[in-house]
Amino acid sequence: MKLLFDLHTHTIASGHAYSTLRENILGAKENGLLCYGFADHSYKMEGTLDKIYFQNFKVLPEKIEGITVLAGIELNILDFEGNLDVEDFMYEDLDYMIASMHSNVMTLGTKAENMRALEQVFENEKIKIIGHPDDERFPLDYDRLAKRAKETKTLLELNNTSLSPDSYRIGARDNQIKLLKSCEKYGTKIIINSDAHFYLDVGNLERAKSLVEEVKFPEELIVNTSLEGLKYVLNDSKRLKKFKDKPWERP
Ligand SMILES: [Zn+2]
Ligand SMILES: [Zn+2]
Repeated sequence: MKLLFDLHTHTIASGHAYSTLRENILGAKENGLLCYGFADHSYKMEGTLDKIYFQNFKVLPEKIEGITVLAGIELNILDFEGNLDVEDFMYEDLDYMIASMHSNVMTLGTKAENMRALEQVFENEKIKIIGHPDDERFPLDYDRLAKRAKETKTLLELNNTSLSPDSYRIGARDNQIKLLKSCEKYGTKIIINSDAHFYLDVGNLERAKSLVEEVKFPEELIVNTSLEGLKYVLNDSKRLKKFKDKPWERP
């Protein structure tokens, strides 16, 4: 199985990641990706970015080093009502949006509270990816999650970094297995991402790949096995409208 894009990566701008955009793109190339996306943290996380960072992505060309480059964001889910640190301009200026729960932004909730937050996020049709829904500190109802993701055409992420022995997320492997089983049951699509914070990890999706193989998860439910899978992720951004090459529109 070959995975062609990795859309959850961080650059040095995130404040706790250590490579530049160009270094990440070179890492993507080295690991054989055809498309690379960066999604730095939105502004409510301490030590990360101001809003202005996300307002000028139009300067980035369609391709860099021969790779299609997409400009996204990882929004923070702020509370159990599912509020996000998003601004109106982001819906037009960003190519795609991930929303995630982070322990340094959001209070740790019960399963019911976390699900209440995610139910609201699912209602926002611009949010196409739920990042790392695998951390036992944020317990979730995986059947309900997979069902609502399918109904709202939202992708659930299988996060490679969560499977690292160094990860601070708890119980991720067991939760990812539950997630995969529920997604298979409901026919819900997933996206595999690295969540790289260093260029060598961009496009390194090996742990997640091994897991899907181990549980024999259907390949057709993994969107990054083809470039057409980008159609499940991308917003109608001003930047994408100018792209000459639109692989996600190919029949
Ligand atoms: Zn995250
Ligand atoms: Zn991240």
